Amino acid sequence: SSAASPIRATLFPGDGIGPEIADSVKQVFTTAEVPIEWEEHYVGDQIDPRTQSFLTWESLESVRRNGVGLKGPMATPIGKGHRSLNLTLRKELNLYANVRPCYSLPGYKTRYDNVDLITIRENTEGEYSGLEHQVVRGVVESLKIITRQASLRVAEYAFHYAKAHGRERVSAIHKANIMQKTDGLFLKCCREVAEKYPEIKYEEVVIDNCCMMLVKNPSLFDVLVMPNLYGDIISDLCAGLIGGLGLTPSCNIGEGGIALAEAVHGSAPDIAGKNLANPTALLLSSVTMLRHLKLHDKADRIQDAVLKTIAEGKYRTADLGGSSSTSEFTNAICDHL
Ligand code: NAD
Repeated sequence: SSAASPIRATLFPGDGIGPEIADSVKQVFTTAEVPIEWEEHYVGDQIDPRTQSFLTWESLESVRRNGVGLKGPMATPIGKGHRSLNLTLRKELNLYANVRPCYSLPGYKTRYDNVDLITIRENTEGEYSGLEHQVVRGVVESLKIITRQASLRVAEYAFHYAKAHGRERVSAIHKANIMQKTDGLFLKCCREVAEKYPEIKYEEVVIDNCCMMLVKNPSLFDVLVMPNLYGDIISDLCAGLIGGLGLTPSCNIGEGGIALAEAVHGSAPDIAGKNLANPTALLLSSVTMLRHLKLHDKADRIQDAVLKTIAEGKYRTADLGGSSSTSEFTNAICDHL
């Protein structure tokens, strides 16, 4: 496969621990001979007027051109007159679905051994529409926007994903008993899409009940699809079920088939620059990117090497109770490749 010309992918190392864990991915990809050529883009220290953010227009163009990319955590500098980096990426690239696979890592003991969940979060509207204002002193209002178009799009993605990955069930998570109009419309759209996929079981679960069920018995669920805020919360809950944010990958899906994979965690300023970060979340995110590119044998090899290294327990980073550095852990993964 390495005889073919390399595939170009955009890499945003990001801030804080970002460059350290991005180095780990680069080293692992080189060792596994993944036919990818990175186009690296850094967050600037000046606002680009074309994007109104510290992300340059060229870096967004790079993702649009390549269609695939990997993103480290980004810490949005405080100040006025610019947009958050993550919001800029989401809006400019129309990243409408955030997909987070969450499965128990063999050999890393948590309360559950059998977690295998996919959360799919609507990523463009809902409670995150950014429409908040003061009505009068002491009264503020926040608008939750739900549209038919965005709901159908994310529901379609969820069912398509379920079918493509041999999953049995899609659960729509909601609070339509209270949010009758907004979550009501979201559910209506999910139902419409469900009818096109008779082979996939479809159910609707109220968010509060969903939380209770997830912590009691995560194997009650398979693929979960939900509006923005619920997705933000539930996907972190799921990360907690398997050992925390250092482990969980995600992938953002955009219009036109763009896939921008990213670790779920932030820039971890407390451990940045100390060679202590766990690169697993970004490595497993890079695996979702490889799967998107249908490079399944490379994806399997890297995933196996990461999981084996963690399972053996000889080299683990501090967040998993070990004492290895980022580079020792990465070298151990490369030895398994
Ligand atoms: P964080 O995820 O950066 O850190 C929370 C805790 O988890 C810290 O103790 C940190 O050391 C630990 N941690 C996180 N990732 C780890 C890893 N890979 N290995 C080992 N330990 C890890 O959350 P925060 O402190 O709330 O945020 C810090 C900055 O990151 C903020 O500027 C925030 O805006 C930004 N952020 C960015 C993203 C993103 O780019 N997607 C997401 C969340 C937060």
